[in-house]
Amino acid sequence: MSTDTHEVDVVIVGGGMVGASMACALATMNIRAVLLEANDINTELPAEGFEMRVSAITRASQKLFEMIDVWPAIVKQRISPFRDMHVWDASGDGVIHFDSADIGEACLGHIIENKVIVSALYERLRAFENIEVITNNSVMSINIGAENASLALKDGKLIKTRLIIAADGGNSVLRQQAGISVRGWDYDHAALVTYVKTEHGHQDTAWQRFLPTGPLAFLPLPQQYSSIVWSTQPEEAKRLCALDETAFKTELESAFESKLGKIESIGPRAMFPLRFFVANDFIQSRFALIGDAAHTVHPLAGQGVNLGLADVATLAEVLHDALQNNKDIGHVSVLRRYERWRKADSLPLLVSMDSFKRFFGSDIPAVRWLRNFGLNLTNHTTPLKNKIVRVAMGLEGSMPKLSRGLPLD
Ligand SMILES: Cc1cc2nc3c(=O)[nH]c(=O)nc-3n(C[C@H](O)[C@H](O)[C@H](O)COP(=O)(O)OP(=O)(O)OC[C@H]3O[C@@H](n4cnc5c(N)ncnc54)[C@H](O)[C@@H]3O)c2cc1C
Repeated sequence: MSTDTHEVDVVIVGGGMVGASMACALATMNIRAVLLEANDINTELPAEGFEMRVSAITRASQKLFEMIDVWPAIVKQRISPFRDMHVWDASGDGVIHFDSADIGEACLGHIIENKVIVSALYERLRAFENIEVITNNSVMSINIGAENASLALKDGKLIKTRLIIAADGGNSVLRQQAGISVRGWDYDHAALVTYVKTEHGHQDTAWQRFLPTGPLAFLPLPQQYSSIVWSTQPEEAKRLCALDETAFKTELESAFESKLGKIESIGPRAMFPLRFFVANDFIQSRFALIGDAAHTVHPLAGQGVNLGLADVATLAEVLHDALQNNKDIGHVSVLRRYERWRKADSLPLLVSMDSFKRFFGSDIPAVRWLRNFGLNLTNHTTPLKNKIVRVAMGLEGSMPKLSRGLPLD
């Protein structure tokens, strides 16, 4: 093993949607950074059909993508705006309908395949000499000292840096190596994902039906296709994954009350375990957590990556301000501002999403009555409904500049 040491200002570990966005946000600053990804970056979209993994991207995340100049490359590939959201409860008459026109917006957000976002980010990173992308390599150990931190990589390389940003996902090894604990639980739920072509068009609407076993979402893709996220008990998800196509179509149509007519075709199916946790600390000296490494949530409200992108926008602003004031970007006094800001903004949202999941998962008759009553009441209370939409779109709270579409300078 050769020992090759180099020194940079920042090392971002994990090159998923959040880590690669962080690299793009830092690229225009006077910083040298490494983006380290354990796997190959596969940006090729399927020749036929769609990617199974998609994300509902909020207007705030769109603004960040515009500010780091990746939005045009995303739009050039394929995106699906959703203008309406229709949510209803299978165990009652509760219905709520959100329309972007009610708050004067063109759409509530966009459904985008994760690979479309990742490929646009890596295309953008190719334009910058100060960002080195290392793939197929991972961290063996980290060492955090007073003046700098170091990372020993699998291939024997040693990188010294002023700041490590861990964006290595929900199972973050870096978070464990830093000794940061989490609070949370498994939901005993898994998400079955696939995509389908339906008899009737989706009307640019995100549909979500709350079944007693968990939420089922139909999210608009181009033409008459919808992406499916069906959350249910792991055993049930396994059974649904194993059904033949005809049997699966029948069960899906029935679970969705055939809202969009017959299911004409389906793509491959996969399942993902679901859990909820928040890291007890988002930072340490010379160390910061972002994205799923800091908080992992149920996909029912489509907020996971959007929270991670808000981390990116906030940390970018904090580091930018520190550089302007000649401060040490890895010092805990700088990073504390990031932690306070993100905890204040994200914790209420994280807790309410978890409560929402429990409220809709409950089979207690009084709770069932209350949620159906609550849905209908909210549906007819315009100011409250508009407030919920604005929170879901990431347009409320003390938003960082990049999420508001403002430059850092
Ligand atoms: C079914 C489902 C549907 C979802 N839908 C939505 C939605 O509609 N909207 C939304 O906002 N969110 C959604 N989410 C959540 C969203 O997918 C995640 O929040 C998001 O992918 C997190 O991104 P990340 O970059 O933080 O982590 P990840 O995507 O997990 O990326 C981590 C990266 O780090 C790399 N890595 C790991 N360990 C190492 C290491 N030691 N060294 C180097 N690299 C490493 C991995 O290879 C990976 O590339 C959904 C989640 C699920 C499961």
